[in-house]
Amino acid sequence: MHWSLAIAEDIVKRRKEKKHVLATGITPSGDIHVGNLREIIIGDAVHSALLDMDVDARLIYVADTFDPLRRRYSFLPEEYEAHVGKPLSEIPDPEGCHSSYADHFLQPFLDSLADLGIKIEIFKADAMYKSGMYVGVIKEANSRREELSRIIEEVSGRQVPEEWTSFNPLCDACGRITSGIVKRYDIEKEEVYYECECGNKGAASFKGGGKLAWRVDWAARWKILGVTIEPFGKDHAAPGGSFDTGKKISSEIYNYEAPYPIPFEHILLKTKGEVTAMSSSMGTNIPVHAILEAVPPEILKHVISRVRPEKHIEFDPSLPLLNLIDEYEREIGGIGRGVAGKIPFRHLITLVQIARGDFSKLLNVIRRSGYEVREENEAEIKEIEKKARYVENWLREYAPPGLKFELQSALPTEELKSLSEVQKKALKLLAQELQEGKTPSADEWHNKIYEVASATNVEAKEIFRAIYIAVLKKPSGPRAGWLLASLDAEFIRERFESAAMV
Ligand SMILES: [Zn+2]
Ligand SMILES: [Zn+2]
Repeated sequence: MHWSLAIAEDIVKRRKEKKHVLATGITPSGDIHVGNLREIIIGDAVHSALLDMDVDARLIYVADTFDPLRRRYSFLPEEYEAHVGKPLSEIPDPEGCHSSYADHFLQPFLDSLADLGIKIEIFKADAMYKSGMYVGVIKEANSRREELSRIIEEVSGRQVPEEWTSFNPLCDACGRITSGIVKRYDIEKEEVYYECECGNKGAASFKGGGKLAWRVDWAARWKILGVTIEPFGKDHAAPGGSFDTGKKISSEIYNYEAPYPIPFEHILLKTKGEVTAMSSSMGTNIPVHAILEAVPPEILKHVISRVRPEKHIEFDPSLPLLNLIDEYEREIGGIGRGVAGKIPFRHLITLVQIARGDFSKLLNVIRRSGYEVREENEAEIKEIEKKARYVENWLREYAPPGLKFELQSALPTEELKSLSEVQKKALKLLAQELQEGKTPSADEWHNKIYEVASATNVEAKEIFRAIYIAVLKKPSGPRAGWLLASLDAEFIRERFESAAMV
């Protein structure tokens, strides 16, 4: 049974609600990356499982656009120092292409979710605050400050400062939401009076004039949106952590049962054997939109949803990702419709490199390697083109050097000098096989190489080496049968004959 189904069954067993709201959320302070995506993939999987069980459920995503910029990240220009402490929704787009900083990082992610086929209702925190959705919960929080600070102290074991309030006012002079101190609140007028570090004093409305402190905000949001299920990173799930605090605030202040928690482990990034946490601020991450240029969405979904939430994932976009693509194509289905779905991704890696980025050449190479491609079938051609684009991007960004090769148009004379007489003889015998205009298939090539090996009494791997040197100017390469079958027969005949003469 898939883990998502087991979770869905447990939810139905434990919760009394007939309608469920499954909430996810990410702060768009930088590129939203593959690690962040896990929360949504888990949410989406459980949501689908609930729907399959005929349970009424909604999947929502709350973007924390009203959260402050914590510091000037390394990817931000120096002048962004001045924006530290302001809400992300109120800071200009660092690249000037969207209406705000928050949208700049949020929009590509939302586009990726559409590519992934994940249908989700979007809420932006700044719009929620500005629309007045929070007024009721802010009133409640402000009038019960003592209780809130007691709960936070009890659960987290942290001392809450005397001047702490649950509401962080947005200063109307410096624009920061992190430096104002609430001096007094007026529940009736729905506003607080604050003094800011910048020297400004003023009033801030409950309607968009500030936001609740994070632990309070989380619980308040459950109530406002009717959240009943929520996946979140395991660090929030630690004893005394934000979930425990939120749970108590939810029941004691808001009289609302905290959602069914689905804590999950992180996705770690593995590159060149080194494992690091994925972090937008450190720049050690792969944005979702970037990886979706190199692999199709179904693969990204598969890579994440095949692992149970409580297990961590080491995401290595290089060879391990390719192995997962192989596994997917073998066990679940081909990538792409029609012919595209029949050509394994790994095989296309060879074909694309033989065609050297020339698409009309690629179609010929594909035909030569045994697939029927009908030029008049536009939809089919488009599918091939799409898959080839993924392959090209994966090759450029993530392929290990061992998988890359360059078809040599000139004879690599220097390198061929290292071949033994027997290796040359073997190449000559292979060339002879092509005399009568034959075009062997990949399997036939494979068998021929072994026949020649036993005829010349040389190890097959020596012949493979000679083939790679003659064609690719390096001692290794993709499966020789595939490689040779995809090349023009006349080219191979000529190449092997001349190589044997060096
Ligand atoms: Zn932008
Ligand atoms: Zn200020």
